[in-house]
Order: sequence, then structure tokens, then C-alpha cells
Amino acid sequence: SFNFKNVTDIIYERLDKRIVNLLRLIGIYGHELKMPVYVVGGFVRDLLLNIPNYDIDIVVEGNGIEFAKYVGKQLDAIVVPYEKFYTATLVFKDGFKIDIATARTEYYEKPGELPQVDVSTIKKDLYRRDFTINAMAIKLNPNEFGVLYDFFNCQRDLQEGIIRILHNLSFIEDPTRMIRAVRFETRYNFRIEEHTLDILKKNLEGKYLERVSGSRIRQEIEKILEEREPMKAIRRLAELGILKHIFPKTYYTPTMDEKLERVFKFLPSVKERYQNISDFYAISTVLLEFYDKETLDDMRNRYGYPKKFIESLKFTENMMMPLKSMIETRLNFSDIYKVIGKGNPYIFIHLSAYLEEDDQEYLITYIDAILNTKLEKVSGKYVIERFSLKSGPVINEILERLYAMKLDNPKLDEIQTVEKIAEQFLKNLEQAEISENQKT
Ligand code: ATP
Repeated sequence: SFNFKNVTDIIYERLDKRIVNLLRLIGIYGHELKMPVYVVGGFVRDLLLNIPNYDIDIVVEGNGIEFAKYVGKQLDAIVVPYEKFYTATLVFKDGFKIDIATARTEYYEKPGELPQVDVSTIKKDLYRRDFTINAMAIKLNPNEFGVLYDFFNCQRDLQEGIIRILHNLSFIEDPTRMIRAVRFETRYNFRIEEHTLDILKKNLEGKYLERVSGSRIRQEIEKILEEREPMKAIRRLAELGILKHIFPKTYYTPTMDEKLERVFKFLPSVKERYQNISDFYAISTVLLEFYDKETLDDMRNRYGYPKKFIESLKFTENMMMPLKSMIETRLNFSDIYKVIGKGNPYIFIHLSAYLEEDDQEYLITYIDAILNTKLEKVSGKYVIERFSLKSGPVINEILERLYAMKLDNPKLDEIQTVEKIAEQFLKNLEQAEISENQKT
């Protein structure tokens, strides 16, 4: 039939020779073990769209792990089996990986839980997938190499740019598909089909997303943040009401939109300067603004924010407006330092949400000053010995004042400056003691 056309030409035209050879070999091994094998899912979708994709997912009608072990032996690759899921990953000498799965029908005990697995055929395997555009397979066995298995009019949807679920219970089986729908919509500039949208909205109201574990939701959001246009997807999540079911107290206003936009502009400069910056935490500084303590605790439990992150967020959120004007008036670093000290990357990211581009640039110069300024000559020990002081808060205050001054003037002479600071300090201390004595 038309739906089972042969796409061998496209395979040869669009894929690296290496990949074609690998697919050919996998088909031959399938033949040798008398198992039908297919490449499936996103790889097929992107092949037909002519978009590069090196995530090869293989499905076997038969024992996928046994098949993986056979291929591993033939091609000298390491096999990492996941017995529980009847799947395996093959890791080649050069680090290239492919996933091999057993064709299966998943059924879910309860919405949002991990699926139970049963051995099945390719059609059922494809039927359990998220959307029609992801539900095609290409056969690899030599006698049928390149035959496109399209049971559900998937090619038509791909051509028309439509995101469509395969059956009405799809979002109940796995509510994270609601987020995935938006991701594919924005990535390919596709549209969620009307019936799918109706069901999505109904299932949203049914609070199915709330039943999913926070870590799975977070993973899908993180995937969105890796896309080329995350803002477009976030906007769409808000528009469809999905965001409200992820962050229940977030009101997506034009102001919030602007803030997120500014955060995304600022993020690359932060990532150049700090390691392991999480985009998820970054947008959370804005999305979780002005949450009440209780809901914030819920969010922490649900999405696993570090306690420190939440505490710092709470502590600094009321400082954002004052800091904004300090930055805008180009106040000295030492004055900004008095308010936020060395800060942390997420405070800076949060602040960036309030800043226009040139003000963000000034903030970056502050960050660079913080990262590059160290006291080299004067230490706590030096202060104690030089001024015959006991260790205590005064020592730190002297060092902090010296540090703040060095932020403004990196070339300042630490030894000379600390003399003046200490003199001032000691004078003030004396005065305080005198007035203290006069009182008694
Ligand atoms: P990407 O290009 O972002 O990797 P992908 O479609 O390859 O997209 P994966 O998350 O790698 O996405 O999943 C591979 C395939 O597994 C998908 O094409 C889809 O068929 C199926 N799949 C993944 N997640 C789900 C899900 N939550 N529900 C149903 N099917 C899924």
C-alpha cells in the first residue's frame, strides 16, 4: 500500500555512509537471528524531514537483549542491558551509541507511573508512542530494507505539520506528553491538532499533570530549555494553561514574559563565567517570584530545588528593585557589594530579569570584578598582628571594607589602605567606648 512505500533512496541520499552501513548490518543480523528489526521514532521523523539526527533507536520483534548481544559481538561494541525493560544500549569503540528495544505494548498501572512491559509487535509498539510524527518505523532486514511502516497516517501529519496523539487516553497514560507536544510544536513550527488539543485541555483540568512525579516534569522542561527557541515554547505552555499546572502560583503576564526574555539574553554571559548553571533554576528565579512560603516548599519538594537556592531567592527578591536602580545609576561596585556581597550566579540571573541590555553589561562588569578581585597582601592574620587586635567581627569588617575598596580600584595598595581603614575603625571604636563609659 501507499503507506508502506520504500525509502531506501532517501536513506542513501540523506544519511552518512557510516550510518547506512550500520543500518544495513543491523538488518543482516536481524535476518541471521530471524528477528524483524526496525529503526523507529525520532530518527525516522527527522530523516523524512531531512534534519540530521544521530539518535538511532532500534526495535526488534523478538528478544531485544539477545539481539543486542549478538550485534555487540559482531561489531565489537559494549552491550549495556536493562533487563527490566527488555532494552539495551550498544556503545561502539568511538563512543557512538544506539538503543535497542524489544517491541512492546506498555500498559500503565496508574497514570504517571512507569510502564509495565510486554513483548509485542511493531504495530503495537508504534501505537503506544506519543504522537503520530514519532510513530513510524523503517524495516532493516535485507529482504525488506527501507520499507516505511506507517500504520496511522503519520506521513500525512508530518507533511501537514500536525501534532496528533494516537488514541484518546494518550495524555492520561503519560501526562508529560502535554509538554512534549509543545516542544515538538515549537521545534518544527507545527500545530497541535484540534481533537488532540481538546483532549489535552480536558486532561489538564482533570489534574493529570499533578499526578506525575516532579522529576519527570522537570526533565521535560529541561528538554524544552535545550531547544533553539525556549521562550516560544514557554509562551505556548502558558497560553495553553499547562504552565499553571506546573507552577500553580505563576501568573504569566507580559511583564513576566519580558523578564524571562531578559534572563535568556543574559544567560550566556553567566555560563561563560560559572560552571553547571541550570537553565531550569535560572527561569525559576522569575517563575517562583513572590511565592508564599508554603507553596515554595511544595515546589522544592516537587522539583528538587536545593534548599540554599530557595532561601537565597526568598532573601533577595525584595532587593531586586533597589538593585535595579543602583545598577541603572552605575553606582560604585563597593556600594553594590554592601547590598549583595559576592552574591551567587542565580541572584545575578534574577537581577538580569530587571535590566535592559546596557545595564546587564554593567552587571557583568560587577560579576567580573567579584570573580577577579582577591586580597593578596592583607589577611586576617596580618590585621590581627599589625594592629594588635583580638580575632572577632572587627577583623572581618576591616577586610570587607578593604575588599570593597579594591573592587572599585583594583590597583589599590592593600598595605597602605588597610592602615587608613584600621585607623578609622579604631577611632570609631574608642569613641564608642567613651560614650559607653559616659552613660554609666
Ligand atoms: P528528540 O529529537 O528531542 O530526541 P525524540 O522523538 O527522539 O526527540 P526521545 O525522547 O529521544 O525523543 O524519544 C524517542 C522516541 O520514543 C520518540 O520518537 C517517541 O516515539 C518515543 N517516546 C519518547 N517519549 C515518549 C513518551 N513520553 N510517550 C510516548 N512515546 C515516547
